[in-house]
Amino acid sequence: RIVLGIESSCDETAAALVTQDRVILAQRIASQDQAHRPYGGVVPEIAARAHAERLAPLIEATLADAGMTLADVDAVAATAGPGLIGGVMVGLVTAKALAMAADKPLIAINHLEGHALSPRLADAALAYPYLLLLVSGGHCQLLLVEGVGRYRRLATTIDDALGEAFDKTAKLLGLGYPGGPAVERLAAQGDAGAVPLPRPLVGSAEPHFSFAGLKSAVMRAKQAGVHQNADIAAAFQQAAIDCLIDRTRRALAAAGPVNALVVAGGVAANTAIRAALEALAADRGLPFVAPPLGLCTDNAAMIAWAGIERLALGQSDPLDIMARPRWPLDPEAEAVRGAGV
Ligand code: ATP
Ligand code: MG
Ligand code: FE
Repeated sequence: RIVLGIESSCDETAAALVTQDRVILAQRIASQDQAHRPYGGVVPEIAARAHAERLAPLIEATLADAGMTLADVDAVAATAGPGLIGGVMVGLVTAKALAMAADKPLIAINHLEGHALSPRLADAALAYPYLLLLVSGGHCQLLLVEGVGRYRRLATTIDDALGEAFDKTAKLLGLGYPGGPAVERLAAQGDAGAVPLPRPLVGSAEPHFSFAGLKSAVMRAKQAGVHQNADIAAAFQQAAIDCLIDRTRRALAAAGPVNALVVAGGVAANTAIRAALEALAADRGLPFVAPPLGLCTDNAAMIAWAGIERLALGQSDPLDIMARPRWPLDPEAEAVRGAGV
């Protein structure tokens, strides 16, 4: 089986062809970094326009790369949320049109499910259940992944996502957009011990994350004017790692038996974070799985793969399915949080 995947929920326009045997036959990603750089972050209007202009030729090129036509694919999978609604609609409407024209099933994918299942595209041996640390531009969650569509959220951030904190730190240090990789590079040259920063919620009995206080502390450290930027970057990254490790350790204790510790999402591209999680997994005698860097940040191969997993279960979606700006992976946990937890 072969699925065409489409991703357009943020600032990457992407298409990919993936087989059930985990072969990425072709994939193309058009980044909009250049378009958003002058504004220091993603501008939704610009993003939607860029997706609309680029997506159709990108899909055509992806099919051509694989020497295929739509007739060769078994289904069309597209991100249907959560994300910037203009971009999501461009991707989903395009997928509907292709599915209708070629008479193929449409599969509407939750972008977070794409991230959550991406480690299974990278590693055929990864079996359910696994504990997933999902760290991205908009999310920071610990999820017990029990199967396709079966996600139990054990923890989430009560304020900022970690990718957001990386991006704000980058902005503060004048590193531009996108910030995560730039902060990581600078941190490698700094002394994490030179700048004292807080570790919010570390040791707390509750399971959640918090990064707002860390972000403010980074701002104060910068404004103090006495620290090297590299030291601030290193201290920030180390504080973030300490938070992630403490919270993940707690979740491992609470989750019951799992087959592996897994990390996914854009921030999972960070080498220092991967190394710290790998050490934690080794300490617990657990396999550690992290997708290759290109499968961590937004891409369409993970969307195609989620489509493969759903197709294997006989699932597809009606052509009138709607794009969703908000779409929690674990609605029950979201409801609890909505009630003020
Ligand atoms: P979400 O998946 O929550 O909807 P998104 O799709 O915008 O958000 P991703 O593409 O998954 O986010 O991740 C982008 C984030 O990852 C950005 O905040 C970026 O700074 C961060 N990031 C990318 N590479 C690194 C890195 N090497 N170190 C730290 N952060 C990184
Ligand atoms: Mg991006
Ligand atoms: Fe993402």
